[in-house]
Amino acid sequence: MKTQKELDARWKFQVASRPGGEGLLVCFACGVCTAGCPVSEVEERFNPRRIIHQVLMGNREDVLRSKEIWMCIGCYTCTAHCPQDVEFTNLLKALRIMAVEEGYVDKRWLRIVDEIDRRTQSLRRDLVEYLWDRGTPPSEEEFARLYKQETEKLSWTRKGEDDAE
Ligand code: SF4
Ligand code: SF4
Repeated sequence: MKTQKELDARWKFQVASRPGGEGLLVCFACGVCTAGCPVSEVEERFNPRRIIHQVLMGNREDVLRSKEIWMCIGCYTCTAHCPQDVEFTNLLKALRIMAVEEGYVDKRWLRIVDEIDRRTQSLRRDLVEYLWDRGTPPSEEEFARLYKQETEKLSWTRKGEDDAE
C-alpha cells in the first residue's frame, strides 16, 4: 500500500490535460469499459477501470512502469460504450507517451507495440485463410487441438492457457 507521500495528487490533472485524457475526471468507476474489453477477457490483470482508479489515486510510478498499459489493442470498444465519454483508448495512449517521456520504458516500445498489433492481424488473417481453404470448418474441439499444437511451437506463449474447456 502506497503512503500519501508516494502518491501524486496532481498527476490526474496532468493526465487530464493531455489529448485523450480530457474525460478522466468524470469517470464514475462503473466498469463498463472492463466488461466489454477483449483483452480483459483473456488477461485478468488488464483492467481499464482499475487503471483509471490508479490514475485518479495518483499512483503514477506503478501505472507508468506497468506492463498492462501496453496490452490494449486499440479496438475502441471501451470508448464507444463509456457512459461518461472518457475515451479510455486515447487515455492509455497518453499514458504510454508519458511512460516514455518520463523514462519508465524505452521509447522503442511505442513502435514495437504497433508492429505487434500489425503482425497479430496478419496471423489472424493467415489462420482464417488456412481454415477456410481446408473446406469444412473444424469443430471447436478440433480447432482447440490445432491451435494448441501450433502455438506450442512458440516458446513465448503461455502453454495451454487458452485451451477450450
Ligand atoms: S466505462 Fe467510463 S465511466 Fe465507466 S469505469 Fe470505464 S471509463 Fe469510467
Ligand atoms: S480499446 Fe483497449 S482497453 Fe478499450 S476495449 Fe479495446 S482493448 Fe480494451
